[in-house]
Amino acid sequence: MKNTTYIFSILILLILNSCTGTKMVKQTSTEYNKLFSEEKRVIIDKETEIPYTGKYYKFDEKGTYLCKQCNAPLFRSEDKFDAGCGWPSFDNAINNAIKEIPDRDGIRTEIVCANCGAHLGHVFTGEGFTSKDVRHCVNSISMQFLPDNDRTTEKAYFAGGCFWGVEFYFKQSEGVISTTAGYSGGDVPHPSYNQVSRGNTGYAETVEVEFDPSKTTFEKLARLFFEIHDPAQTNGQGPDIGSQYLSYIFYTTVEQKKTSEKLIKILKEKGYSVVTKVTPLKNFWPAESFHQDYYSKTGKTPYCHIKTKRF
Ligand SMILES: [Zn+2]
Repeated sequence: MKNTTYIFSILILLILNSCTGTKMVKQTSTEYNKLFSEEKRVIIDKETEIPYTGKYYKFDEKGTYLCKQCNAPLFRSEDKFDAGCGWPSFDNAINNAIKEIPDRDGIRTEIVCANCGAHLGHVFTGEGFTSKDVRHCVNSISMQFLPDNDRTTEKAYFAGGCFWGVEFYFKQSEGVISTTAGYSGGDVPHPSYNQVSRGNTGYAETVEVEFDPSKTTFEKLARLFFEIHDPAQTNGQGPDIGSQYLSYIFYTTVEQKKTSEKLIKILKEKGYSVVTKVTPLKNFWPAESFHQDYYSKTGKTPYCHIKTKRF
């Protein structure tokens, strides 16, 4: 019985892995990037890449190394050093990013991604390379590098009823680079509008807002969010009733979470019974093209989103 459950879980994992594309946004739960055979050989089968061949061995750009399978941040460039061993070496990892487990050889300590279990390499101590005296010896192929200067834009995800109206307002907001209507919060890959409409997928109609942090802030956008929908409606938004129309902020950073909670507290103190859920981003799938920029395409105006001053 135990075996059957195990095989079933593996099958589910394989199915989920084969359905997903590569995204730079960190994914939660079991939605992982598709791995190529050479990546699988190291990340899943725990083999080691040939030394001196990995693309990050002699590499010293400033930025963050992410897990190739799940995009979780693992190491920072300032912790990287050259141990002369042929693999990228780090004397520190990002807090709680990696897990140490005994290697199957019974001698070494293996390191895996704490989020998805991807094999990264091994950790050694007492070699005296740096003052921390730790060497995380990592396969280049297990990682994806995100340069610091790539962080010129930020994304925020707001669900506040029908995404046509939510997108309409964010699109006009200063500092917003692009908006995409879509679905967040559910598990099924590539949900369709019809599926989400049934109200039982866990997905909510959501707008992805990409913005320039030098021109606006998450807080400004979140304040706008609370003023273009009714954050106190418990069963949907306006005439749209169902779980797919509930109010959510799907945060992607700790700062976004804190800001959202701060604004909800302010609104509650003002007497609004805010029911907006603040939760980590769980999947974002763009909606069908028909739903994108709906009001600018049709020249109509939103039927259930009216800007109301609340702050
Ligand atoms: Zn991972």
